[in-house]
Amino acid sequence: MMLLGHVATAIYPGSFDPLTNGHLSIIHRGLTMFDRLIVAVLNNPRKQSMFGVEERKALIREAMPDPRVEVDSFQGLLVHYTRKKGVHTILRGLRAVSDFEYEFQLANMNRKLDPDFDTVFMMTGQDSFYISSQLVREVASLGGDVSELVPPNVFSALREKFPSNNGR
Ligand code: ADP
Repeated sequence: MMLLGHVATAIYPGSFDPLTNGHLSIIHRGLTMFDRLIVAVLNNPRKQSMFGVEERKALIREAMPDPRVEVDSFQGLLVHYTRKKGVHTILRGLRAVSDFEYEFQLANMNRKLDPDFDTVFMMTGQDSFYISSQLVREVASLGGDVSELVPPNVFSALREKFPSNNGR
């Protein structure tokens, strides 16, 4: 959507540990609604992650080399980050009813913290509603095949992390 020189931008925040085909589907569909997307990787030092922030960012950039997509990271409160970027719309994906309660709380808390804040939700398709980064990490670490759940560069990165099995 491009109205009178106005560029519609949304921030797509998440852990992306690692990026999955579910995330990619949200990014692709997000780009049909917004002119630009900022994929913002949450850097949470209190949470143990499989991939470091810079690694996660690089994997997203490689998988999504589109000039309309900026890849960034943030720490702390999302509303502080959105204010700093001057963008007040965030994009989130909804997989199942189980995502809804948490997302509903989060959207309302963020709006309480910043009245300008808004959340746009996109539903996943039937081919990716069951994909989560957590499951991908678990399955890959146990030697299961995740080649259809993540983009090829993430698949290679997972194979490097777990050389004892070939990922199949
Ligand atoms: P995860 O829950 O997989 O660890 P993130 O914290 O990185 O994911 O999630 C970032 C956003 O992407 C959230 O809004 C989450 O609901 C959404 N998301 C994650 N996986 C999928 C998927 N398979 N389909 C749609 N949205 C997803």
